[in-house]
Amino acid sequence: MKRRCISLYSGGLDSILVVKMLQEQGVEVVPISFFTPFYGSLAMRDPEAVKAFHRERYGIDIFPTDFTREMIRILASPRHGFGKHLNPCVDCKIGMIRTAASLMPDYGATFVATGEVLGQRPMSQRRDTMNVIINETGLKDILLRPLCAKLMAPTLPERQGVVDREKLGSISGRGRKDQLALARRYGIDPENIPTPAGGCLLTYEATAARVRMTFERFRPGLPSPDDVMLDVVGRKFILDPRTVLVVSRDEGETELVSTLASPGNMFLKIADVPGPLCIVRGDMTGENLANAASICLRYGRARGTTGHKAVYGPDPNALVDAVDAPVLSDEACRSFQIDSET
Ligand code: SF4
Repeated sequence: MKRRCISLYSGGLDSILVVKMLQEQGVEVVPISFFTPFYGSLAMRDPEAVKAFHRERYGIDIFPTDFTREMIRILASPRHGFGKHLNPCVDCKIGMIRTAASLMPDYGATFVATGEVLGQRPMSQRRDTMNVIINETGLKDILLRPLCAKLMAPTLPERQGVVDREKLGSISGRGRKDQLALARRYGIDPENIPTPAGGCLLTYEATAARVRMTFERFRPGLPSPDDVMLDVVGRKFILDPRTVLVVSRDEGETELVSTLASPGNMFLKIADVPGPLCIVRGDMTGENLANAASICLRYGRARGTTGHKAVYGPDPNALVDAVDAPVLSDEACRSFQIDSET
C-alpha cells in the first residue's frame, strides 16, 4: 500500500490533528476541505485565501472541494434523517467520505482518514453509526479514524504497517483534553486552536427554516446551488411563488451579496441614496421589480421618502436599468418577508 491518504479536513482541531498525526508517521496526506453555502462558504468566494490561511496558520496545504450539489441531493431525502434542525449529519458524512474515496485514484491515495472521535457527536459519532458509515461508504477496511483508531478494529493500513497503530489515538467522548494535549505536542499556538465546531448553518433554526422553504418551492425538483446560497445571506422575501428577494443587512453583507453574480441573479439598489444591495431571483416582472425596489428603499437611508428609483442589472458594478421605488407601508413590506426579524 502506498503511504498516501485522503483526509477529510473541516478546519476544526480534530481534522488538523489527523493530518499532523499521519504526517508524523511519514504518510503523505491530501486534506480535502469540502464546502457548501452552509459551511466553509468563504472557500466558494476565495479558495486561495482559505488555502493560504491554513498553510500559514497550521502548515497544511488543503484542497477546497465544492460539495454543494451533493449536499442538495442529501437534503432532499436523507436516509438517516436530520439532527436537531436541518443537519443530515450521518448522510453528510457518508457523502463526504464517498466523494473523498472517489478522488483516491486522482491522488494516488490508498485510504481515507477522518477526524471522527468515538462518542463525540450524538448523531454521527456513536459506535453503531460509525459502523453504518463504514458499511454505507463501502470503504470497510480503508477508512481510518486516527484519533480513536485503537478503539476500533484494525484497518488495512494498520495491519499492513502503512501506519503504526500504536502511535494512533484512543480518544473518546466529548471532552477536548486529549486533543488539546496533542495540539501542544504538534506545536499549534494555543491562540490558533479552533473553537469547537458550530459552524454549520444547517444546525441553526433560522437557516433551516429558509432552506426548508426553498426545497418546498422547488418540489418535486431540486433547488440549484445559487438558490440555496440565497438562504444564508441577508433578509429574505418571497415576491411570488417563483421569485425571491434578498436584501443585505450591513456593509459586510453588501460586499458578500456583490460577489453572488450568477445566471438568474439580478442586482438592485436605490440609485441616489446609500442603502442595501439586493438580489432578485426568479421572474423579473414589472410588479416584482417594483416591489423589490420598494423593499430595498425601506431598508436604506431614504426610507419612507418618495421620488426615488432603483437601478438593476445582472452585473453589480453596472446597474443600467431603472424602476420606480414607490413607498410601501412596513406592513406591506413585511408581508413578503419570510424571516421573523425586521
Ligand atoms: S454539522 Fe453540517 S457539515 Fe457537519 S456533518 Fe452535520 S450536516 Fe454535515
